[in-house]
Amino acid sequence: MSFDLVMLGPPGAGKGTQASRLAKRWGIPHVSTGAILRDAVKAATPLGRQVQSILEAGGLIDDETITRIVAERLERPDTAPGVLLDGFPRTVPQARTLDGLAARRGPLLVVDIVLTEAEVLRRLASRMVCAECGTNAQDDEDYATCHDCGGPLVPRADDREAVVRKRLQVYHEQTAPLVAYYAPRPSYCRVDGAQLVDDVTRSIMDAVTAARSEHARLSPT
Ligand code: AMP
Repeated sequence: MSFDLVMLGPPGAGKGTQASRLAKRWGIPHVSTGAILRDAVKAATPLGRQVQSILEAGGLIDDETITRIVAERLERPDTAPGVLLDGFPRTVPQARTLDGLAARRGPLLVVDIVLTEAEVLRRLASRMVCAECGTNAQDDEDYATCHDCGGPLVPRADDREAVVRKRLQVYHEQTAPLVAYYAPRPSYCRVDGAQLVDDVTRSIMDAVTAARSEHARLSPT
């Protein structure tokens, strides 16, 4: 049974790190809308030019543009066994659109990675990402080169404190309502993001196993 997994949580909760680990483990694509947009900015495509100043200011791209990007990505054949969605949806209208897209796919599971604001600020102040491929540095790295491609590690442009505060405000106003949107569903689960990275991965895998069996129990084929 294929399934799609949405990673919810504030900036810095570990969505990208966990999505990339789990995508490798499950052999399904990691779809990060932030990475797609940053790549477009780097390549100076028309989309990149359209969104650059919004990304730099920590705001959100309009729902229509971002849902079009995700809908197109979900049409590609590599997504047939399921995808890990990192950074999408970020608003209730985006979640409604995703429900429409998911109706033609497998079940949609939602993992909410919970982290306090103090911990978010502490983590983002020291986060390093690869300048080449955008991968987050691992905790145990020497902060010189990327473990995936060997590229140089740099701070992420929108991790400056003023921008982080703006991103947190946007998260509380526009993304946090998604918790109420998804929480009543049996496919929604919460995971403590303050644990060690390996323990967060294990908790997500346990939660996904439980959510998949609950889904199979409620909708037997
Ligand atoms: P992220 O890497 O997920 O933190 O995303 C980085 C930035 O990309 C965000 O601060 C937004 O400007 C933009 N972005 C990513 N995903 C979305 C989305 N689903 N809706 C609107 N803007 C997005």
